[in-house]
Amino acid sequence: MSTIIIKNGTLVDYRTECRADLVISGGKICKIAPSVDVEEEKRRATSGGVKVIDAAGCLVLPGLIDAHTHYHLVSRGTVTADSFREGSRTASFGGVTTVIDFADHNKGMNLEESAKFRLDEMARGGMAVDYTLHQGVYGHGYDASIPENLERLKELGIRTLKIFTTYRNTGYLLDDPASLRDLFRNAKRLGMLVTVHCEYNPFIEKINDNWKGTYLPKDHPDMRPAEAEAEAIRTYGEIAFEEDCPLYIVHCSSEAGLDEIRRLRGMGAEIYAETTPTYLFLERSRLEGNDGALFVMTPPLRTERDNKILRDALSRGEFNVVATDHCSFTREQKLSSCDVRTIYPGVPGTEEMFPLLYTAFKDRMPLSNLVSLVTNEPAKLFGISGRKGSLSVGMDGDVCIYDPRGERILDDSIVHTAAKYTAFRGLKIEGKVSCTISRGRVVMERGEYFGEPGEGRFIEQSSTLEGGVAVWPPARGFFIPKDAIRKVCND
Ligand SMILES: [Zn+2]
Repeated sequence: MSTIIIKNGTLVDYRTECRADLVISGGKICKIAPSVDVEEEKRRATSGGVKVIDAAGCLVLPGLIDAHTHYHLVSRGTVTADSFREGSRTASFGGVTTVIDFADHNKGMNLEESAKFRLDEMARGGMAVDYTLHQGVYGHGYDASIPENLERLKELGIRTLKIFTTYRNTGYLLDDPASLRDLFRNAKRLGMLVTVHCEYNPFIEKINDNWKGTYLPKDHPDMRPAEAEAEAIRTYGEIAFEEDCPLYIVHCSSEAGLDEIRRLRGMGAEIYAETTPTYLFLERSRLEGNDGALFVMTPPLRTERDNKILRDALSRGEFNVVATDHCSFTREQKLSSCDVRTIYPGVPGTEEMFPLLYTAFKDRMPLSNLVSLVTNEPAKLFGISGRKGSLSVGMDGDVCIYDPRGERILDDSIVHTAAKYTAFRGLKIEGKVSCTISRGRVVMERGEYFGEPGEGRFIEQSSTLEGGVAVWPPARGFFIPKDAIRKVCND
């Protein structure tokens, strides 16, 4: 395995922002120093070649983590455009070296069997970047065997769970209070983190039963309103709080939802929150055009005000994680229906994630904090911080080199998803990922893809909340205050 020396860059991770060189060897970060002598490293390298990357003017970040992806998602007789190979490719173009995907709780399988089924699919499907999983726990399969099965899931290296507050017809909905309490108690006991999709089913069913309007894309936000998100956060958050169990809210989309998160945290509940670029940057007016179906997802896009409130909250440290909910159908698949009851929901977005965040927030918050949202925070919460999410010696050799120079307007021709479109068209991005390195292998450099299907590895979650990695409310948001950001070069 070759050695990679990254020279002259600015290293940025959750606690560091400094000029330094970085050496990767044997798939791990093996040296960080103000100046690395290339000739000396060449003499030291025993096998493989030595590649030197000049990162002058660039940011050198830990390989990014997209903590919410759906690659190869089978839905209503079709499958997403980005399977594991295509997903790995678009991730590499976005600087993402680890994705956290989802395992369904399959009918007729227990949790452990469901997880193994998905892991096998991912291994055989040719993942080229590393991955781990959130395991779904669905209402259709909730029974007395779950607690014991959770223990076996944990032994397998999966310690994060996903529940749904909606989708009764697919059997996903988990709303029986006794089951929820049982799940929260056992998750707490085992140090597993429960993540939850929040749209309160009784609200949505009632609206649907009484709906007199059309079923066009523009109607979708009114059929699944922000109040439904808020009510689900309130109801599930309170039960989790009563059971003293932390809860992670996926893809918070609205001011109303955020207000509930604030209220629960104010009560002392341990609530972690994720949002996505879609809810930060896209408003519901996108659903009004001829191609409005392209922008259908759940929860639906909200108002410009919601976008702005979420951006303000993000810059203040109220969100722990930004992830994408990448779920890629092609333009043809999306536009094959104009009825929101049958449009395939979801959009791609892993590739656009960091450029959008960098452009919008680089002047609003310390870069370390911004980078942490897509590196160390998800690594910590999802139990992979021993290998991923920061730049230190001994960590996996995962690096994203970001060149902040230059501006582009996002359009379909820029992105590499097999969906062949971007939901963020028309938005300006500053800079781009110039190189992505996964465990010491260059998987993307200057617009060329070098990923090898099958090289991606399952990363076991070694701990999630055992020992308590973060406690709400921290003194000043989750972020380390800027004046405490360690300058490694100086110590
Ligand atoms: Zn999702």
